[in-house]
Amino acid sequence: MVRFRFSPVKGTFGGKAPRDIFLTMAASPFLFVGNLLCLDFLNTEPVREGVRVDLLVSFEDLARWLEAAGQLQPGAARTAAMRWGGSAEGRKTLREAKRLRAALRAMAERLAAGKPVGDDVVRTINRVLASRPAYARLVRNSTGYAARLEPVTRGPLQLLAPVAESAAWLLEHGEVSLVRQCEGNQCVLLFYDTTRNKSRRWCSMEECGGRAKAAAYYRRTRARGAPG
Ligand SMILES: [Zn+2]
Repeated sequence: MVRFRFSPVKGTFGGKAPRDIFLTMAASPFLFVGNLLCLDFLNTEPVREGVRVDLLVSFEDLARWLEAAGQLQPGAARTAAMRWGGSAEGRKTLREAKRLRAALRAMAERLAAGKPVGDDVVRTINRVLASRPAYARLVRNSTGYAARLEPVTRGPLQLLAPVAESAAWLLEHGEVSLVRQCEGNQCVLLFYDTTRNKSRRWCSMEECGGRAKAAAYYRRTRARGAPG
């Protein structure tokens, strides 16, 4: 059986996304701390200074995120943004993207709490998976023949298929107990813990990890009666 080649887990802790043409990396608002595409996608709704913000306001934002996540080549992201941005199909795709994101949050929060995932989540994932049908195409190679899976090009919803595939991978093959929510106060980011001793607690050391360390240091020094 031919399968999509899919590499689900990024090896690095808090690894940065490979590229971004619309914005420089420093200016990109997106966070890639999840180690799994589906978790990075739901992390497009972080809490900043106590307020939940949505980083996907338009179809163009979605194209930018897909590019920043390495799921669209820069040229393809720009083409998609020009073709569907501002169109009814683009708006529909954004609505579907948010429905998928809400389902993925429900999935991840239940997994992080050690609970089973609801059927509605599975249905939502399946709807996005169905947006990118594929067929086996027979090709000649040096040793004979090979059947290669070719996606059938449809509308822009298929751009979300890799996110849904990532969630499908997590539920089929992943270690679901490694889905964790950041312990930071008010932080809503989730990640897949790939540290060796499975002890990751924070979305990143620059953010919640660093704040927790500073707070612990402050408590210690105050307890000792040290100045400052
Ligand atoms: Zn955090």
